[in-house]
Amino acid sequence: MTATIIDGKAFAANLRAQLAVEVASLTAKGQQPGLAVVLVGEDPASQVYVRNKAAQTLEVGMKSVEHKLPADTTQDALLKIVKDLNADPSIDGILVQLPLPAHIDTQTVLETIDPAKDVDGFHPMNVGKLATGLEALVSCTPLGCLMLLKDKLGSLAGLNAVVVGRSNIVGKPMAQLLLAESCTVTIAHSRTKDLPAVVRSADIVVAAVGRPEMVKGDWIKPGATVIDVGINRVPGKEPGKTKLVGDVDFATASAVAGAITPVPGGVGPMTIACLLHNTVTAAKRRRGI
Ligand code: NDP
Repeated sequence: MTATIIDGKAFAANLRAQLAVEVASLTAKGQQPGLAVVLVGEDPASQVYVRNKAAQTLEVGMKSVEHKLPADTTQDALLKIVKDLNADPSIDGILVQLPLPAHIDTQTVLETIDPAKDVDGFHPMNVGKLATGLEALVSCTPLGCLMLLKDKLGSLAGLNAVVVGRSNIVGKPMAQLLLAESCTVTIAHSRTKDLPAVVRSADIVVAAVGRPEMVKGDWIKPGATVIDVGINRVPGKEPGKTKLVGDVDFATASAVAGAITPVPGGVGPMTIACLLHNTVTAAKRRRGI
């Protein structure tokens, strides 16, 4: 069997197009949504992410604000910016790009963001609301994975889902979302015994591990849906060149799975699209629309 490829790039483009229509209608009512991104330091990957986020924010017609701060910015100075953004009525979403420099306490910064503007969904208030089934802003990457799964499978109720990885930004919120869809959810991690057997029980596999091509084809139940969150840069075929691979061994897994996301072009593009989606959601909730 050859798996259907789940085209996250196309899905994300379609989502952005829908958001652009919604943003235009909000803007016409004098309610243009606004997203602020704060970057501390010069981390090259973070700079690329922030540039892409700002470009896509403008592309869908939202207001985009960027704060680029030097690496030696004090925690107090950063907190002051976050508090000013909390108080700014034209800003609906605040994202502080992680990782932050070591002298800044990430949790303090995340907890200073107004939960109603926490479009990354990392504030404990939103994490708690997700866990208790209340209306929350949900972490963008797992939200994107869920959208792809529901688009592919329709109802997920009763399916066995195995999430490999238990990070706060991907694994745990992914598991909560799948539980809310009435999946039977297993969360696997580095201490899980016989991981291949656990993964083999899954109708849905979400791999968020950070280990290149770890999940092999013979771990996959025939016909299962495989969502590969991993983004790993590895040496390419030509000397000095690199390439991106996921946490799933695409060549072997795509021969067994029913559907699978590629890397790149699967989950990756969904993350920013969901950030924009969360900003529109936050704008409508905050403004009572
Ligand atoms: P973390 O490093 O925070 O978490 C990795 C998780 O994988 C941990 O729970 C860890 O277990 C588990 N793990 C590590 N090794 C193994 C193993 N050998 N067997 C089973 N489980 C293992 O990573 P993130 O969740 O932040 O990211 C995961 C991947 O997703 C990365 O490749 C990252 O680049 C990518 N990513 C992609 C995004 C996108 O936009 N597409 C966004 C965010 C992340 P334990 O807790 O026991 O240590």
